[in-house]
Amino acid sequence: LDSPLFSDLPGDIDISFEFFPPKTEKMAQTLQESVATLQPLGPRFVSVTYGAGGTTRERTHAEVVRVQNETRIPAAAHLTCVNATKDEVNAVARHYWESGIRHIVALRGDAPDGGAYSPHPGGYANAVELIAGLKQVADFEISVAAYPEVHPDSPDAQTDIDNLKAKFDAGADRAITQFFFDPECFFRFRDEAAAAGIDAEIVPGVMPVMSFAAVQRMSGLCGTSIPSWMEGLFDGLDERPAARQLVSATIAAELCRKLYAGGVRQFHFYTLNRAELSYAICHMLGKRPVGVAT
Ligand code: FAD
Repeated sequence: LDSPLFSDLPGDIDISFEFFPPKTEKMAQTLQESVATLQPLGPRFVSVTYGAGGTTRERTHAEVVRVQNETRIPAAAHLTCVNATKDEVNAVARHYWESGIRHIVALRGDAPDGGAYSPHPGGYANAVELIAGLKQVADFEISVAAYPEVHPDSPDAQTDIDNLKAKFDAGADRAITQFFFDPECFFRFRDEAAAAGIDAEIVPGVMPVMSFAAVQRMSGLCGTSIPSWMEGLFDGLDERPAARQLVSATIAAELCRKLYAGGVRQFHFYTLNRAELSYAICHMLGKRPVGVAT
């Protein structure tokens, strides 16, 4: 791709940030500081994840409502089908609506023990069913998950795309992708989605690497491939966090720059509750605090 230089990027992009609910006071403090750092960049929304098996139901709710009330940034709640009946999931959704939350990231979720997924008796079987159910509860804005490298449970790429199409047909507004490191993989997926008649937003999920070992572990679980050059770049940096951060920011910014060159104007950042890497990448993409001239 004939990529523009960083100096040419005007910041004409929409950004959103993902957080997870904090477990301790100290983590809550870090999260608040991170949200405060990223808020001036004017994200169109932030989202808060839902722990495996619904284990963070109350904490996710508390955090989503707190962030939206304190920052006025529209906040989205992740919600899964795991370990809950339809009535229970609907009650959680209704509570969100009553608390002023209008955006749900609707997911199937995974089996809490890491084994094969099976639906809860009386629960929603998958994301498509969940979306349809949520739309019955209220007119939520709905984001869903998409997989440029194919979901591990999917028999093939076409089934995965058909499933994504079904999520849009059930009422989803946009898809956010699993993280990936090869821009070509995203472009291929975007083309396949378009060929299947999907014309809604597909937003790349960008994962700045905090810990290479953790990313390797997560990639193994979700089917993301790690290019061999990346392993080489992180080699020898385990004890050098500052150098590692610089390398991480460069890799993620380079990925975003190529995505931008390919026409992408929306980016979703997996912040892991830390602001600096995501801030630096947005900055390199031309984003400046709202109201401040570039
Ligand atoms: P679905 O779209 O329902 O299905 C997953 C796959 O199974 C599909 O791709 C499809 O190929 C196959 N499949 C489903 N139904 C059928 C069918 N009827 N026939 C054939 N194949 C079928 N997990 C959490 O626990 N909490 C979170 O907060 C969370 N946030 C996430 C945010 C994003 C942006 C992403 C990308 C993932 C997130 N996840 C989260 C992980 C997600 O829960 C898992 O990836 C899960 O395994 C699949 O969820 P889904 O909504 O994509 O499932």
